[in-house]
Amino acid sequence: MHIKKQRLLTPGPTPLLPKALHAMMDSDVHHRTDDFRKVYSAVLRDLKELMGTANDVLVLVSSGSGAMEAAVQNTLSAGDKVVVCTAGKFGERWVELARAYSLNTVVVEAPYGAAVSPEQLDAALTPDVKAVLIQASESSTGSMHDLEAMGRLVKQTSAIFIVDAITGLGTMPLDIDGWGLDIVVGGSQKAFMVPPGIAFLSISKKAWAMGETSTLPRFYFNLKKELKNALNGESAWTPATSLMFAMAEALTYIKSLGMPKLIENAQLLARATRAAATALGLELFSSAPGNALTAIQAPSGIDSGVIIKEFRNRFGSIIANGQGSMKGQIFRIAHLGYFDFVDLFGMVAELELILAANGHPVEFGKGVAAVQRVYAEVALPRAAALAIS
Ligand SMILES: *Cc1c(COP(=O)(O)O)cnc(C)c1O
Repeated sequence: MHIKKQRLLTPGPTPLLPKALHAMMDSDVHHRTDDFRKVYSAVLRDLKELMGTANDVLVLVSSGSGAMEAAVQNTLSAGDKVVVCTAGKFGERWVELARAYSLNTVVVEAPYGAAVSPEQLDAALTPDVKAVLIQASESSTGSMHDLEAMGRLVKQTSAIFIVDAITGLGTMPLDIDGWGLDIVVGGSQKAFMVPPGIAFLSISKKAWAMGETSTLPRFYFNLKKELKNALNGESAWTPATSLMFAMAEALTYIKSLGMPKLIENAQLLARATRAAATALGLELFSSAPGNALTAIQAPSGIDSGVIIKEFRNRFGSIIANGQGSMKGQIFRIAHLGYFDFVDLFGMVAELELILAANGHPVEFGKGVAAVQRVYAEVALPRAAALAIS
C-alpha cells in the first residue's frame, strides 16, 4: 500500500481554499447581529465587485439550481414564451425547470459537444419572447457559449437574458452590464472555492421591471424580499452562516488575486490540458471548448468509467464521468477555482499511467511535457526556448 491523498478534481464541488475552510469554524454566531451583518454585507459587496456589475446582487441558501429557479419564479408568468438554448445536461435542466412552471418553452438545441450559435438564437427570437435562458459554460460537455453576440441580440428585444454562469463566473470574461446579461447565476462550489450550499445572482433593472408583472408562485425564493433585507445586511431567512464566513474569506482571496487572474488561471490550465490530451492521442469532446473544464473522450475500447475508477483507486483522485448518454464515453477535468499547474502535472502523469495500464499506447511524459511547455511559454520564456521538444 502507498499513501494516497484524496484530491477533488471535479467541476463542482471543487477544491476548497484552506482559509475559507478554516473560517467556517468561527461561525458560532447569530445572524441578526452587527457582527454577522458585517460579514453578509461584505460578501454582497465583494460579489458585486468581482462580478463587475452595477446590478443588484443577492445571495440565496441553496445549490446553484435554486437560484436558477428563483430567476424564473421572480420574473415570469405561466404561459410566457421563453427560448431555452441548450447544448447539454444543464441546458436540459433549464428546459425541465421552464416546463415545471408551465412556461411556453421553445428549445433551441445544439448537439452535445457543440454550442448554440447566435444565428440559431436570432431565428427563434420573436417579439413575444419574454426570456432567453442559457448556460455560459455547459459543464456536461465543456462547451461555452458566445454570450457577447447573443446578448447583443437579446438586448434589442423586450426579453430578458437569464444566464446560468455557475461554471462561467471566474473562468471566462463576462461583461454583465455591457452585454446585457439581465440575470447571472453563480454557485459557491465552483470557481469560488467554497463548499456547496450558497447560490447568488445579479438582477438588472429590466429583470426587476419584468418581475413587477410576474405571477408565478414563490415563497422561499422571493427576490424582492431578499433585496429589502440585503440592504440592511440581512437575509430573509436564516442564512448558511458557516458558508458565509467561508465565502467572505474566499472573496477576499479572489480580490487579492484579481478576477482577470482567476480567469487566466483557468484559461491556461484548460489550454495545457487540451495540449496534453492531443499529445497523448486523445480526442477532445467539445468543438467549442471553454475554460471551466475539459471533456476528453476515452480511447476506443476503454470505458471512461474505468479511467475514473482507476484515478480513484490508484491515486485517490476524484474526476468526473460524462452525464446521461455521455457516461462511459468521456471524462471531465476541472480548471475552475483553486487549481494550479502542480495539480495538472500530477493529474496528467496519473492519466498516462492509467492509459498504459489499460492498453492505450503511451510514451510516458509526453502529456506532462505538453503541460510544462504551456507553463514555460507563459512564465519562463527563456526556459521554453532552451527546452528540448
Ligand atoms: C453545477 C452547475 C449547476 C448547479 O448545480 P447544483 O447542483 O444545483 O449546484 C448548474 N449549472 C451548471 C452549468 C453547473 O455546472
